[in-house]
This record gives sequence, structure tokens and C-alpha cells, in this order.
Amino acid sequence: MEWDKEAREMVEAIPLPPMIAHFAIMDAERRAEKKGQGRVTADIARETEKGYEQALGKESVELMRRLARGEDAGLPDEFYVEEPEQLYSIELCPAKFGASTMEKREQMRQLLTPLRNKLKELGITRILLDKATTSIMSHHMFRIGVTGCPNACFSPYFSDFAVLGAYQVGVKESGCTQCGTCVEYCTQDAISLSEGGPVIDEKRCIKCSGCVEVCEEGILFTEKRGYKVAVGGSGARFPRIARTVTEFTDLGGVLTILEKSVQLLRNTPVEGRVIQFHQIVDTYGVERLRI
Ligand code: SF4
Ligand code: SF4
Repeated sequence: MEWDKEAREMVEAIPLPPMIAHFAIMDAERRAEKKGQGRVTADIARETEKGYEQALGKESVELMRRLARGEDAGLPDEFYVEEPEQLYSIELCPAKFGASTMEKREQMRQLLTPLRNKLKELGITRILLDKATTSIMSHHMFRIGVTGCPNACFSPYFSDFAVLGAYQVGVKESGCTQCGTCVEYCTQDAISLSEGGPVIDEKRCIKCSGCVEVCEEGILFTEKRGYKVAVGGSGARFPRIARTVTEFTDLGGVLTILEKSVQLLRNTPVEGRVIQFHQIVDTYGVERLRI
């Protein structure tokens, strides 16, 4: 694919979270190809930028512009806590940059300090040190994956403990213009339109809040913010996908499930050379962790 010099500079300057920064070039070439062009022009570059602006939200793009200029972007301190002396890790998704919305970033931020305090109160590091039968290595760590929404982009389901932002959607009683944008947007086919407005099928809805973001009339709104919790995942030698403990709970619920999980870990005797939480979940299931 050929590139106009200006177009290349424009696309390379699109401010994106590090995890997806290298996709912009491919995205621009894809757009050119779709138009039957063998060259990326400034028009295509603008379209590419606009596409990311829509996908991530203007606020988030502005935040990343400030980061790229080396300015203070006001990212919460909670995202940058380092605790090398602890045997747990907390990995965050790109929502920490506001992608895709500040609401999702805030949902993660609110969780972090209580989560860290709870882990320390429960003595997770001491428990894991006491149970270790070999030199301490990375597989001894208790890994937590936190995402801003249930889309789970960076695979938190491979973590010992996964917490995903979830959003209960409410519907205003009147004012829907029947534009159909929400129905078109929802990848779960969870929305249908009645004469009175949108109807959400709770069995299909994954609580991503995407429909709230696309409804320009404000008919759909976030009624309640919460979290989904899944436990017992591992991306190591014997991969496991974390199993759902609850589809929706509040911060107190997350901490209670964490406490039950750590207690289960503490009370389970070590068999063999290592103790791994996903093996314990395999053995005991998730029922006893429910609230
Ligand atoms: S929250 Fe997500 S899954 Fe649920 S109805 Fe809205 S777009 Fe569909
Ligand atoms: S709820 Fe909003 S997006 Fe959905 S049809 Fe009505 S006005 Fe359009």
C-alpha cells in the first residue's frame, strides 16, 4: 500500500492507548482498500482518526493527546501503584486511559484501593509464602485482572480473580424517537423496540452500557454501576477460563467474594509442589464463593 507523506504523519499522530497504537496504520490501509484505493491519502487518514474518536470517545482521545505531549493527563494515582514486595498483581485494561469511556475508568479506579487493602488485610502474601514449597517464582502470585466493562479485551478470564465493570441499564418511559441506533449497536441482540420505546432482554444483556453511549436522546441510562466476578482462570501450563461467580454485584460483593476465595486458598492443604488457585476452584467449584 502506498502512502501520502502527510497521511502517514496524520495516522501516526493519532493518540491511542499503547495496547492498540500500532493498529491505526492497518486500519487506514483497510479503509483505503475498501474504497478500491491503492494509496492512503489525507482524507483516509482523517476518516481513520474520526473512527477512533468515535470508538474511544472524544474525552479519551483528548486525554491521550495530553499524554503524548508529555502533559499531566490527570490519570488517577491508583493506576500506578507498584508493590514489588507483595505476591499479588493487578492488571488493568486500556479503560485506564478512558477507553472507551471515563465512566469505565472511574469504575476501575473506585475498586483498586479497597481491593489492595483487602488483599493486605487477608495476608495473601503471607499465605502464599507459607504454602510455597519451592523458590518463589511468578507462578506463585495471585493474579487479578480488572476491566472497565464485560468486553474483557485483555483476557481477565485467565486470571485467578477477574473483576469486570458491569452496568445495569435503565430506560426512560418516554421520548424514544425509534431511531433504532441502540438495536443496531447491541451485539447481543438484547434490545427490541416496542411502541413505548426500547425493551431490554435481561437474559441476553451483558451489561456493557454500549447502548447508553449511542442513544443521543438519553432514553437509555446507567441505572446502577457494579461488577461481574469470575475466579479460577489461568494462562499457564494447564490453561483455565475463570468461572463466573456473579454477573452483577457491588464493591462490597466483590470484596466478600475475594475474602471467600482467599480463605479457600488458605484452608486448602498443599498437595504436590505448588498450590494453584485454579486447581482449587476445579476441585471445589464456585458455589461456596457465592454471596
Ligand atoms: S448493555 Fe450492552 S448488551 Fe445490554 S442491551 Fe445495552 S448494548 Fe446490549
Ligand atoms: S432508545 Fe435511543 S437509540 Fe434506541 S431507538 Fe430510542 S432514541 Fe434511538
